[in-house]
Amino acid sequence: MSEGIQLFIPKYRIDECLAEIKECLEKGWTGVGFKTIEFEKEWMKYTGLPCAHFVASATAGLHLAVRLLKEQGGWEDGDEIISTPLTFVSSNHAILYENLNVVFADVDKYLCLDPKSIESRITPKTRAVLFVGLGGNTGQLAEVVKLCKKRNLKLILDAAHMAGTRFNGRHVGYDADVTVFSFHAVKNLPTADGGMICFNEPELDKEVRKWSWLGINKDTFSRTVSQGAYKWHYEVESAGFKYHGNSIMASLGLVGLKYLDADNSYRRQLAAWYDELLAEQIERVPVAPGCESSRHLYQILVDDRDEVMLALNDCKIYPGVHYRVNTAYEMYAHAADSVPRASVASERIISLPMHMGVTRLDVERICSTLNEMSKVKPKAKKTEPVARVAT
Ligand SMILES: *Cc1c(COP(=O)(O)O)cnc(C)c1O
Repeated sequence: MSEGIQLFIPKYRIDECLAEIKECLEKGWTGVGFKTIEFEKEWMKYTGLPCAHFVASATAGLHLAVRLLKEQGGWEDGDEIISTPLTFVSSNHAILYENLNVVFADVDKYLCLDPKSIESRITPKTRAVLFVGLGGNTGQLAEVVKLCKKRNLKLILDAAHMAGTRFNGRHVGYDADVTVFSFHAVKNLPTADGGMICFNEPELDKEVRKWSWLGINKDTFSRTVSQGAYKWHYEVESAGFKYHGNSIMASLGLVGLKYLDADNSYRRQLAAWYDELLAEQIERVPVAPGCESSRHLYQILVDDRDEVMLALNDCKIYPGVHYRVNTAYEMYAHAADSVPRASVASERIISLPMHMGVTRLDVERICSTLNEMSKVKPKAKKTEPVARVAT
């Protein structure tokens, strides 16, 4: 036995990826345009969302989402967005980039934002809610949508884990003002790096295409294919960012998208095996009713989490933690006492291995190890657990 069972290993259909990339190289077109446009079109077709713009990362997309909603809504510096503390820090950094305040609300049993807690945090300065579909779960998103409508708040959906998640049969994103997906190397549709920002208003989609390319109001591709003089004569409307994606990454995305549903259904199969084989007393994070989850994560809750992680590492099983509650970081520590449920969960969660290379046999081994441990508590050790906390 060699590397053991890892949390995530991305799977690429290498020959198909190389064929797409070869097209870019032969055409001499590796930048924005060409495959990025093709990928955006395929993404809209797949999700049914009205707009999609391919960007360099979900972090870039989240920043642009906050930026454009702020501009459109005339929000002021110091206005507030209610967000979850149980996420990758990039969700909350995106709010800070635009000089807005992060107000944390607490999570529910799905480890997603609890609508009741959101409601209790609304002030006259609240402008939006940033909802993270943790692990691909929709949680109580439908309730949050209602609340945002009622209280006239914008809804930003951080769907970094939700590529392929449906709610009542429909791909998520249709009822948020903006939805941002991630194609980072360990997400369900990996392109090395990349993201998709999907506004519901076409006006904002037009706007974001300029903002992702330094405020330039025409993209290179349409400039090159357009005929006539003055094609170099573009306008620069704002100090935009260099956030757009490129055709090489879009090539990987186009191939990955073809397999996304099949891969996700294998992830759901893995989840069903975990459900079946884990001892009853081991607590799991449930999937919300009506949600067909992308199953980016399969999370359990245990006491003595760090000990359990070490013991699993000893058996060459390498799970992860999603996430350390953000209020544990100094920059967000001011809100540490305001999110007890997230704080407790942060000490107890484990994400079990979920990728195309995990087999039924692996799941059997992981579950029997965990089941043994849930009977006899392992002794504490001094070394650090090998947890993949990053993304
Ligand atoms: C990975 C992740 C992001 C950031 O995605 P990048 O594409 O790496 O920028 C944002 N939010 C959540 C919840 C994530 O897991």
